[in-house]
Amino acid sequence: MAQSSPNLHGRAQLVMALRGKGITNRSILEALEKVPREDFVDALFEAEAYTDRAIPIACGQTISQPFVVAYMSEALEVGPRMRVLEIGTGSGYQAAVLAHLAGRVYSIERHRPLLEVARKRLEKLKLHNVVTRHGDGFLGWKEQAPFDRIILTAAVDVVPKLLIDQLKPGGILIAPIAPQEAPSPPAESIYQSLTKIMHSEQGLVAESLIKVLFVPMVEGLPQETRHGMERSR
Ligand code: SAH
Repeated sequence: MAQSSPNLHGRAQLVMALRGKGITNRSILEALEKVPREDFVDALFEAEAYTDRAIPIACGQTISQPFVVAYMSEALEVGPRMRVLEIGTGSGYQAAVLAHLAGRVYSIERHRPLLEVARKRLEKLKLHNVVTRHGDGFLGWKEQAPFDRIILTAAVDVVPKLLIDQLKPGGILIAPIAPQEAPSPPAESIYQSLTKIMHSEQGLVAESLIKVLFVPMVEGLPQETRHGMERSR
């Protein structure tokens, strides 16, 4: 599909690199091949869009490394009829990838400027099965709950109970969880443990996957936008 972007070569190369790093699921690789990552970064970083790296975006945040997006999407075991909640829309890239895998994606972002840009990108790509909301992800999206899958793309110390409560029985939640203790000696980057939580008949079962580096999930809304939670689309 020649959508807005001509850079099919960059995307194909990225997919090859991800294959080399152990991503084997075909639908995940196809989803990444369909999403023009250069549309999700500032013009300044366009040349780096298909390197397997996180890239800075506005409001001091980052668009995740494609490997991590692919890995998380794979671990989430998303099916085509599922309803997925994402906390941390950021650039909108992870939501765009999930849009190709899920039935509907609900994505929440606390920075209004980021959300507005992300929404335009998703509209331009005609990914109409993504619904976004400006709000605090710690509260989840009660009106749309429960969800088959929940993905946190910002790091937490513990997974908020409110989010677990919005997960369907049999559902899966993926989150980067910060270490309980700071490393000694102090490290510049403190890696989190990407954790998969399965809501099984025996209760919650947690499995640690890989080390990741995400920005922290921050409670509440930034000062200038505190006047309201509003559905954006
Ligand atoms: N998924 C994004 C990358 C996420 S970066 C992408 O594909 O580009 C983490 C994002 O989580 C940031 O945009 C940050 O503003 C957002 N965030 C942090 N705390 C949040 C909260 N409490 N509620 C909603 N979003 C939050």
